[in-house]
Amino acid sequence: MDNLRLWHKFLQTIKEQLDSGSFRTYFMPVTLKSNDEEKIVLSTPTAFIQANLSQKYLPLIEATFEKLLDKKVSVSFIVKETEDKPREEEADFFQAMPQSRTSSLNPKYTLENFVVGPSNNVAYAAAQAVASNPGTSYNPLFLYGGTGVGKTHLMLGIGNAILKKKPEAKINYCPSEKFMNDYVEAIKTNRMGDLRKKYRAADVLLIDDIQFFSGREGTQEEFFHTFNELQSRNSQMVITSDRSPNEIEKIEDRLKSRFAGGLMLDIQLPDFDTRVAILKAKSAESGVDLPEDSLKLIASSLDSNTRELEGKLTQILQVLKLKNLEPSIENISQFLGSSPNKPLVLDQKKVLHSICSYFDLNMKDLTGPKRQKELVLPRHLAMYILSEELKLTVERIGSLLGGRDHTTVMHARDKMKKLIQNDREVQRIFIEVRQKISTV
Ligand code: ADP
Ligand code: MG
Repeated sequence: MDNLRLWHKFLQTIKEQLDSGSFRTYFMPVTLKSNDEEKIVLSTPTAFIQANLSQKYLPLIEATFEKLLDKKVSVSFIVKETEDKPREEEADFFQAMPQSRTSSLNPKYTLENFVVGPSNNVAYAAAQAVASNPGTSYNPLFLYGGTGVGKTHLMLGIGNAILKKKPEAKINYCPSEKFMNDYVEAIKTNRMGDLRKKYRAADVLLIDDIQFFSGREGTQEEFFHTFNELQSRNSQMVITSDRSPNEIEKIEDRLKSRFAGGLMLDIQLPDFDTRVAILKAKSAESGVDLPEDSLKLIASSLDSNTRELEGKLTQILQVLKLKNLEPSIENISQFLGSSPNKPLVLDQKKVLHSICSYFDLNMKDLTGPKRQKELVLPRHLAMYILSEELKLTVERIGSLLGGRDHTTVMHARDKMKKLIQNDREVQRIFIEVRQKISTV
């Protein structure tokens, strides 16, 4: 696994265990500097972040890498701008480590509070069918789609709906890492029997983010048997993944064909109207009634996934409350840094710098003549964003990127557009880069 991929997997895994504020503050701005033998070095933008990471999150960080890499590692940090200056510790009150999510169902996520739109209505209908007839209609239900589009919400919604009708049902919500850990632990302690009892007794088994089973042969073997047992007993299974089974590398064919035997559906990024409806629902949940034009303004300032949309809304509501301001379109556009009718202001330097820092490249690499494979995606992304969002001409973009021909730029831009729509990995990178640009 290369560093970029490893860091992605790491972020995805750890995101589930943290509240979104800490995730954004402490993990989003960090990059993986190097990964040699057992030593992993993370590069942080400030001493403050570094101090927090090492005081509060180090055990969690190391455990997460160990899980992903299947070996012991030690993690250290460097501060990017001041790599050779002495490390300045900042006083900070020690907080308890965030608890990892337990396997019980979070009652907050229901089918009732899931907002339905064209990007998710088919998945939602299937979720309802499964909730009313578990184990009979679609088994397994396999939901896939990029990060933050509502897979876990829908899955928990199914679990909660079944539980409401049948409080004694044994519903096992299991992030895939938990299944992997339980499996490894069972082997170590020679207690496979207990593991089987635990998983095969479920009436409903919810496996979240199964893409992490990639390359874990033992885990897949065990899960295959669990799957067969549950299916033969008509116990419902719901599985989520950030990509379709065929796109997950290193998953046994027999598992893929089991998944295909049920119903596989994808969830897309929400469109504008759905984003508005989601914002409306979420602000109502926080007890605030935002006017329609404010909702629209926020929805148009961000075209990414629902998790980010929600994060932005939370920030806005907090600021309004702190400053004791009305949730008017003027106040909100001020927060968003734009006038009500203008899109967010981005400048080209910010775009290029953010891309360099996201991929850990020098500007020279990005704009220079080198033709290494690793430079292709960052360059193409840069061209795409400069063209689509900054509306620069292809000629101008070509010259910003070291004198490249405008046909090269056009080709790259069109290619990226397709990739962002069709390739989950690229879509995720784009969303993260886009977010990085708008937060610097
Ligand atoms: P995923 O599992 O696909 O990464 P989540 O299910 O964790 O995404 O969703 C991220 C956040 O967005 C959650 O807070 C969830 O409640 C919210 N969310 C996503 N889609 C919807 C929707 N259609 N309606 C309401 N909330 C949603
Ligand atoms: Mg999820």
